[in-house]
This record gives sequence, C-alpha cells and structure tokens, in this order.
Amino acid sequence: MKKIILLIFDGLGDRPIKELGGQTPLEAAHTPNLDRLASQGICGTLNAMPENLYPTSEEAHLAILGYDFVKDYPGRGVLEALGAGIKLKPDEMAFRIDFGTVDKDLKLIDPRAGVIESTEKLCKAVDGVEVDGVTFKIYPSLSYRGVLVLSGQPVKNYLKKVRHAAISDTDPHKSGPHKIGVRVLHPKPFGGSKEGKTVARALERYQYLTHEILDEHKINKKRIKKGFPPANFILARGEGRLKPVQSFKDRYGLKAACVAGAPLYKGIASYLGMKVLRVKGATGKLDTNVGAKVKAATKALKNNDFVFMHLKGTDVAAEEYGSAKLKKEFIERADKAFGTLCNLKNVMICVTGDHSTPCALKDHSSDPVPFLINFQFPISNFQSNSNDQNSKVKFGESYCKKGSLGHIYGKDVMSRILGNRD
Ligand code: ZN
Repeated sequence: MKKIILLIFDGLGDRPIKELGGQTPLEAAHTPNLDRLASQGICGTLNAMPENLYPTSEEAHLAILGYDFVKDYPGRGVLEALGAGIKLKPDEMAFRIDFGTVDKDLKLIDPRAGVIESTEKLCKAVDGVEVDGVTFKIYPSLSYRGVLVLSGQPVKNYLKKVRHAAISDTDPHKSGPHKIGVRVLHPKPFGGSKEGKTVARALERYQYLTHEILDEHKINKKRIKKGFPPANFILARGEGRLKPVQSFKDRYGLKAACVAGAPLYKGIASYLGMKVLRVKGATGKLDTNVGAKVKAATKALKNNDFVFMHLKGTDVAAEEYGSAKLKKEFIERADKAFGTLCNLKNVMICVTGDHSTPCALKDHSSDPVPFLINFQFPISNFQSNSNDQNSKVKFGESYCKKGSLGHIYGKDVMSRILGNRD
C-alpha cells in the first residue's frame, strides 16, 4: 500500500488579481513541481466546510481529516494549548489569546499589537494571577498569540454543568472588517448559570487588571517611543476544554505524523493522536524552512503511513499583509523544495488548502480551493466533456475547477484519498 502525504497550504485559494494579469497567486506562481504532481493525478476543488459557514482553520482542518467539526471540536484554546505542548487537564478551560492594542476606552486599535515579535516577557508579568478563586496561567505562542488556561474551584464547578464551549469571546474578531474601533467584549457564560457568571466575571476582571499592568510595562513604553502599538490587552477567544475523540489511527488504521510550524496545527494533530515532529526552522511563518519540513516528512514516512504537512505562509501573506506578491513568492519557494517529494516512490501526495484567503479581503472566504491527488503516473484529469483536454497542466484554481474529481467537501477528502490508494 502506498504511504500518504497530505500537504495543506493554509489559505491557499485566492481570486484573480489585476497586478498578476488576472491570475490568482497560485496560478501566477512558477510551480513546476506542483504542476507535475497535478499532471500525474486528478484534480478538483474543495470546500472543507459548507459554504454558508465562515471557514476557520481549525474547523476546516478537522473536517478535512474526516472529523465532525462541531461534535469533535474541543475549542480553539484547547488546540492551541496542545500545540504549545501545554499539559491541559480535563477540569481546566483554555482560551486562545492575542495581544492587542486598545485605547483608553478599551476600543481596539490593533488586534495584533503591530504583529509584536514576542510576548514572552509580557506574559511573565501577567502569569499566575488569581481572581475570585480562578487562577490564570498564560503561555506565549507565536508572535502576538498565546494561550490562557483557567483553573480552580469555580472553573471545576462550571465545567461540571456544561459540555461544550462555555464562555463567550472577549476578542471582537467577528465584528466587522479588522475589528478596529470596536470595544472589547464582555465575556458571558452560555446558558447564563450562576457558576458560569462567576468564571466570566473573573475573566473580565483579569483582563482589566492585566490591561493596567501591560499599559505600564516598560516593553510597551519602549514600543510607544519607537512608534509601535503597545501590546496592552489580552483578547481571549475560542474557549474550550479537553474532550475524548477517536484517534486518527483508530479511525483509519493509519499511523500518522505531523510536520507543522504553527502551534494550532500541531495541536490539531496532537488532539487526534498523531506524532508531532519537531522540525528546526519550521516557524509557521513566511520564513519557514520548507526544505527542512520536506526532509522531516520524507523521514517520517519510514515509520508512518500518513504524514500531514502544513504550510502557513500562504495564509500569513494574504491575511496579515494582503500581499499577492508575498503569497506567490511563498508558493514558488515551497514548490522549489518539493522536487524530492515528487521523486518519492510508492507515496501518494495530496495537495490542497484548508480555505481560501483572498489577498483583497485579508480574510478567509468560502471560495473553493484547488485539490489534487497524485498517482505518480499520467492520467487524464479532465471530464470527458471538457474542451480542455490538451491544455497545459497548471495546478491552480481555474485548472482544478475543470478536474475530474469535481467539487468535494471536507468530509469527502479522506474517503477520496483512501479510495484511490493502492
Ligand atoms: Zn487556515
């Protein structure tokens, strides 16, 4: 049986861009290796989630890996915590946090505090604080991101009462474009129980208290002097708790490993029981060492049946910078490193994205993403009624739209991959 590499470019899909001659970044990119993979396989398009839902990365990944993105979803906070290597207990709550910048009325100025490089020292200043019996542990993650873990008797009391995500976001990330000018939200317990109100109130107090500490912190004073926005507010979202889930191995009989840089994706893999590999130079950013990741994935195939490899750069270029040029360049750089992948024997390579992130939107969208399953031998990709039988193979949105795989949803991905495996 062939081994499998599932390569997910985060936010891969895009829309035609004028500066790129009406092509998308993927179409405009020079990608001989991806094109070769496409020419020796079948293509199609994918919506990991139903089009009427906003495709978050975490839910889209769960769907692609064949899980129920509602029932099996433990909350973003849990996935971030697992990805950061935090040993979460079932009676704790975890939030994903972003360090943001707010004004004196707590209105958002910058949800990423100028994409601050590191918050390690700032986290130290607000870690281990106890408010109304709730202890707040804070862990820095990539750049402005982090994890907030709540524990203590009030949390235990509340978790006994609820089964799913229980405290609403304080990060107004769903309000309008880029959330600017919106006041941070009041956390509320779903269902409004007495126990929930106690925890939500403690969280709000913790956020106000830490806002004062962060505002006065010397790192932020220095940032203001240099003209950078201060990281003066902890924006919490995606509250979750550990919940039991069937492992990837038990579900598919495939021993799986993960090669990723960004903690969220390591967290998803870890949650599903995949072995998460440490790869030097895998940063989860634009500067990630794709070659090192390819090497790690290739090595991992020796002891595993399935390797999930994740590249975040495409999404970073589009969502943080809105730059088609950066997105195109990242794809080209990644493609260069794929040469050895294309030459692997007895390996099925599948390439797709979790969702589209059009540079023009600087946000995720439900535009379908290209999808390919490589068979290592030439195959007619087009449906028999297509007029494009002889056109050049170019892995991209337009080409894949005409592919014989058609349009599929996340829940179909694993069955399509396994159904074509030999
Ligand atoms: Zn994503």
